[in-house]
Amino acid sequence: MPRIQVLSDTLVNQIAAGEVVERPANALKELLENSIDAGSVNLNVELMAGGTKLIKVIDDGIGIGRDDLALALHRHATSKIRDFDDLQRVATLGFRGEGLASIASVSRLVLTSRERDGVHAWRVEADHGRLTEAEPAALSVGTTIEVHDLYYQLPARRKFLKSDSTEYAHCADMVQRLALANPDKQFTLTHNGRAQQRYLAGDLAKRAAAILGDEFAASAIAIDEAAGPLRIHGLTGSPTLGKASRDAQYFFVNGRFVRDKVIQHALREAYRDVLHHDRHAAYCLFLDLEPEGVDVNVHPTKIEVRFRESQAVYRFLLHSLKKALADTKAGMASAESA
Ligand code: ADP
Ligand code: MG
Repeated sequence: MPRIQVLSDTLVNQIAAGEVVERPANALKELLENSIDAGSVNLNVELMAGGTKLIKVIDDGIGIGRDDLALALHRHATSKIRDFDDLQRVATLGFRGEGLASIASVSRLVLTSRERDGVHAWRVEADHGRLTEAEPAALSVGTTIEVHDLYYQLPARRKFLKSDSTEYAHCADMVQRLALANPDKQFTLTHNGRAQQRYLAGDLAKRAAAILGDEFAASAIAIDEAAGPLRIHGLTGSPTLGKASRDAQYFFVNGRFVRDKVIQHALREAYRDVLHHDRHAAYCLFLDLEPEGVDVNVHPTKIEVRFRESQAVYRFLLHSLKKALADTKAGMASAESA
């Protein structure tokens, strides 16, 4: 008997789940990103007990056909990339094919979906990775996924979950991030049966007002600059609106919320001379570049990225932001002297 054994699929998925779905908010992120990748325009989220009892996402995207239902829950199965070339230029939020498999290995997951040309919907259920046969179900076009009792059967993991209200707050933050990145889509969020957030489809200014506040939206500086393959656009906070915390800092690279040292450094430098040193800038900014210019396959949660030309990105951001901030300073000065 060899000492080394190949782990079961379920165990492999549960190990991955430890990274991908640290808490309900991460599971919610995986579900919402799938809905966005599927072209949905209405995304409805229902949570119970901070997402620990139930995370339900209802979308109106392209749906999943009967033959693909089991594959959707299978590890390393994806419709988003096919080969190494695709991996070099990922244009979707997902691509690793492990979100649903991971979640389904640490919960009871119900997946119901109907394709655009489907006569009716199909439904499968996965209880800690054990999958049922697909059966017919009723649903309008799109996909509904319910995640029940996340980590319920894994007490060692469950004990790291915080109170329902803390878990709910993380989920609400996640919805806000995705809602800011997708102002053209409608998002709703309910918790324990009560409506919490409703963002109607519109433009970034409206969405930013709803999430970052009217004061931010009214005083923010609109920015849209491009240089070669790089483009920065969005709203950057007026220096007079410095915040005591970093809560209102949203930066998206190719539509993906990221935390990145290069970006943070550029923003700090740009605001250094105009913002009081103990204040933090508020912003909702989007950097777009060709997918080959950024590696998103750095971490399972994809919150980190690596730029191929990080110095060029840094210089571009610093220059664009300084210019935008200087323009308003000049604008304010001339308004005052008038
Ligand atoms: P990934 O998003 O990395 O491909 P997932 O495990 O999250 O991996 O999803 C697996 C596959 O299931 C996706 O590639 C997609 O084809 C399908 N899928 C998942 N969620 C949805 C959805 N809401 N609508 C349509 N298809 C979906
Ligand atoms: Mg996914």
